[in-house]
Amino acid sequence: MSSGPFPHLAAFSFDIEDWHHSEVNRVSDEIRERESIVVKGTTAILDLLQRHGLRCTFFVLGDVVREHPALIRRMVDEGHELACHGMSHRPVWRATPETFRDELREFRSVVTDALGEFPVIGFRAPTFSIDKSNPWALDVLRSEGYRYDSSIFPMKVKMYGTPGAPCWIYRPSPADLTRHDPHGGLVEFPVATAQVFKLRFPVGGGFYLRALPLPVFRAGLDYILRRRPFALYLHPREVTPESHRMELDPLDGFITYVNLHTVVEKLEHLFGRYRWAPMREILEREGWLGPPQG
Ligand SMILES: [Zn+2]
Repeated sequence: MSSGPFPHLAAFSFDIEDWHHSEVNRVSDEIRERESIVVKGTTAILDLLQRHGLRCTFFVLGDVVREHPALIRRMVDEGHELACHGMSHRPVWRATPETFRDELREFRSVVTDALGEFPVIGFRAPTFSIDKSNPWALDVLRSEGYRYDSSIFPMKVKMYGTPGAPCWIYRPSPADLTRHDPHGGLVEFPVATAQVFKLRFPVGGGFYLRALPLPVFRAGLDYILRRRPFALYLHPREVTPESHRMELDPLDGFITYVNLHTVVEKLEHLFGRYRWAPMREILEREGWLGPPQG
């Protein structure tokens, strides 16, 4: 498949957490332990990427770094970018600036235990939980050494979203997350949303990758990549269809489980169709990680 018509690189990102970290889940600790799929799912992802010779970005929970340091070492040894997904999947909506800062420091410390001093400059909030209610989170990230964020979901969906935010890379204004500010200290690289005239279509991955027919999903990505880079995301539970099935109401059940069996095939198609790089490298290449202007 030709990647000739696309002037930009694409990023695949994986949010490394267990099946029970989903916001919709409520189960006992015992079931969580017994049926953990984070190592199996992440290993399957790493094997797949190795077969295709691709490097990606991994937003990893601090709890996973602490419990599975060998998995994290394999990830960085194979050239992937390690980024932060918080410690235990608590949404930033439930944090204060102080507890959020503590959490980032704890993450830094578990990474140092696993890898020694290691640079981490990217963050994605659990459940895309940075929005107009907590713009202070970007200041905390910047002061803790982060350079980019991927937490602002640029349309309203069931659980989250910041309508009106750009669906391309920008520097959010601390006063208004939906505005670009050339002096903003942090770069936002949102997950893929196609905008055609005034209509927006989420094509970032996860549910959308599973629910949409491949030609529709791919058309959205082609459309974006002719104009700018995009970032997709997926979870280990989405490449292990045999993982624990939670009892959910019909809508949450559909969002969580639809078309799991199609994921690997769709991934392999997309891997062959576009040119991929970790998010950090795309931001560097497109000139976003220099100092803010002015
Ligand atoms: Zn997550």
